[in-house]
Amino acid sequence: TLLVKRGRAFHLSDKPVKSDSELYNEAKRSVRSKQKGVFFGTSAATYLSRSSSRSLSTTAAAVASSSSLLQSSSSSGKKSLRLASGERCAPHERLLVLGSGVAGCAAALTAARHGVPVTVLHAGSVKEDCNSYWAQGGVIYRNYRLKEKDGSEKLVDTPLSLVNDIRIASGYRGALQRNTPLEECHYDASLLLNDPTSSKMGQICSTAGVNWNEDAAWKLALEGPTRVRQLLLGPQDDGAGHTSTGCVVPFDRTTLPTAGPDDDNDGMGKESPEDNTVLSLCLEASHAAPRIIHHADCTGRAITESITRAAAAHPLIEFRGDSIATDLISDEHSDGMVIGAKVLDKNTNKIEAAYAVHGVVLASGGLGGIYEHSTNPGGFNALGSSVALALRLEERLNSSLPGESGITSDLEYVQFHPTSLCLPNEARFLLTEALRGEGAILRDASGRAFASDYHPSAELAPRDIVARAVFTESQKAAADGSDGHNAFLDMTHRDASWLRDRFPTIHSHLSSRDSPMDFTKEKIPVIPAAHYTCGGVTSDLSGRVHGSGGQVHRNLYVAGEAARTGLHGGNRLASTSLLEGLVFGSSVGELVAGVVSDDDAMEKREELIQTMEGARYAIERRLAVEEQSYTSDGDARPVDEKVGDEASALLARLKSVMWDGVGVVRTPSGLADASSELAAMKDEAEFIWDRAGGDWRAAAVRDAARSGLAVAEAASANDVSGGAHYVLHEEVRSEPVSDAALVGAAGGGFGSEDDEEEEALVAAVVL
Ligand SMILES: Cc1cc2nc3c(=O)[nH]c(=O)nc-3n(C[C@H](O)[C@H](O)[C@H](O)COP(=O)(O)OP(=O)(O)OC[C@H]3O[C@@H](n4cnc5c(N)ncnc54)[C@H](O)[C@@H]3O)c2cc1C
Repeated sequence: TLLVKRGRAFHLSDKPVKSDSELYNEAKRSVRSKQKGVFFGTSAATYLSRSSSRSLSTTAAAVASSSSLLQSSSSSGKKSLRLASGERCAPHERLLVLGSGVAGCAAALTAARHGVPVTVLHAGSVKEDCNSYWAQGGVIYRNYRLKEKDGSEKLVDTPLSLVNDIRIASGYRGALQRNTPLEECHYDASLLLNDPTSSKMGQICSTAGVNWNEDAAWKLALEGPTRVRQLLLGPQDDGAGHTSTGCVVPFDRTTLPTAGPDDDNDGMGKESPEDNTVLSLCLEASHAAPRIIHHADCTGRAITESITRAAAAHPLIEFRGDSIATDLISDEHSDGMVIGAKVLDKNTNKIEAAYAVHGVVLASGGLGGIYEHSTNPGGFNALGSSVALALRLEERLNSSLPGESGITSDLEYVQFHPTSLCLPNEARFLLTEALRGEGAILRDASGRAFASDYHPSAELAPRDIVARAVFTESQKAAADGSDGHNAFLDMTHRDASWLRDRFPTIHSHLSSRDSPMDFTKEKIPVIPAAHYTCGGVTSDLSGRVHGSGGQVHRNLYVAGEAARTGLHGGNRLASTSLLEGLVFGSSVGELVAGVVSDDDAMEKREELIQTMEGARYAIERRLAVEEQSYTSDGDARPVDEKVGDEASALLARLKSVMWDGVGVVRTPSGLADASSELAAMKDEAEFIWDRAGGDWRAAAVRDAARSGLAVAEAASANDVSGGAHYVLHEEVRSEPVSDAALVGAAGGGFGSEDDEEEEALVAAVVL
């Protein structure tokens, strides 16, 4: 069946119009003849980017054909998308992705590879201005077989083992529901663990206040390696239709014990049969096996530079910098379906509508930047925009129900990284987990190693426990009235030149200060800092946003740190978030393009077509009235500098309220005080915004205040400590902790009694 509507073709049959091999050869011919800028049709493109063994691969992107058969022309220097007939493609015939980090790029590349035009908006002036850029440690790759010298193979790691590590780190204390090993594959509805609602949320279970989604972890573990190959290790063409253009991240490599023609059966990145190097895998805290690929200690930079370059080179993707989404636009005539976003141009201070028939993806990161101590970069980063945009949408639609977690969930679980560089009047700088993985020791000012007081795994204990240990020790000096700092990271026992080679970014950061520091010779002062947002905008496993009562917000998607899928539960396993961006960003791209492979595929594609048609109708109706579009140019609007300064001052106050009241260790009274201060700040921020005339600083504090209040409210509503959310109840104001307890705590296995031990240690200092 070929449905032609408004001049665009929708292929509604599950039977391919051409055989797989015909399609493959057609696509291959186009590549070989270097036909630049010509999009060779949905089916072939889809075929090229997916495995031919998937029967739906040739037809699944049928919906994408509404915007495919496009050519790109670049005569004006700007990308302009045209239908093959020559008709210009309207600017709103696109997917709008908010964010140029790893999640935004994964969504954009995947959607574009399936024929959907994409505009990626980012708040910074360069695409690389995002958290993703600053990732140090690496990204989880895969479970692999190691070939021994005698030819035997050793299975070093499995998806099950990774799922189990994610569970342990999450703070969820129940057992796994699926204990059977599964092979790497696309995680679809057939694999879902007993999801009675079939809402694709996955199986979310709770213990000790922590919600954890085992399905999300399986999806990450099973699909992760494919997404890494598709998005970061291309170009590849394995002859089975798997290809990936443009992005080859220069991950570190290691030499194999043996070399042979069959050694790359696990996709470890051998470049030829003779090549005896493969991707180097490192071990990080709380991982059962070495499975992290990296580029020295600046993996995020290597990934971001490569993936944004690949996305920018794609004919169907355009980037727009200095563009801040301030509100989502919904259609009041169709249940609040999202049809675009209001966008503030930082250069002109103008706010204009950006419409998008294919919907909007929130890939705008987390909210670690709203804390006084944060590892997240400055500028318009990690200010809780995704949460604020979603909450404002629901408030406008008036659809939040009292007592419902609603469009955001699990916001109390803000992960604090245990070790950021703590020097007066300097921005915090992350000292990666890998340092402790490589043997760094936490010491107090007197040189005593203190981590084992808090957990038997000492420096390698879960992040939240190490963070509380460092926080508690750093508070001790303050309690003593001493000016000195009391928590340090010590690497001086390791070989100096090895350290400089392994951690070049850290070395260069420290040595390029006005008063240079040398981490090979001296202890480094550290403090925990807000690092990662485990909660976020409530999402199912395909990236659809769910609101209060579980309804899906049509045409609104979320991916990456912005999303709460339940993957991390109450705490995140190191190095999972870059992979999360790749896996869940790709899912959104596929969903938008109509690539669905379960039993209800046809129904879903029809639903998608209807949504797009509805969105197109709503947008065209609005445009007819407004006679404007986001692309219109005009004079810059003047801003009132005084109002901008007010906004900056309010943001600074807000960050300190978040740190003091909603920080590493929380108390019910501290949370109550912080909530009422933040509620007042939210009103003040809205007042500033109304007067600001498009000043980006006002947009920043407006989002930070809205999301900060949501975090404080979520934390107040959950008085059970779990994962990264730690509430100290005032009644445990402790009896003095004996030296014996301090030292002896390390001896026992840490179960719930040991939790009490840790609580007493923390309470002795903090309360
Ligand atoms: C110092 C540091 C080290 C880390 N190390 C690791 C690691 O080793 N391994 C790992 O897996 N993870 C690591 N992480 C976490 C990981 O980097 C992030 O969780 C992940 O990169 C988030 O990706 P993202 O695409 O969701 O968001 P981001 O990369 O944060 O991108 C957000 C994008 O949204 C844009 N944006 C924000 N608000 C708006 C708005 N209102 N309108 C328009 N655009 C907007 C920003 O400009 C940016 O482009 C680290 C994080 C930090 C801070």
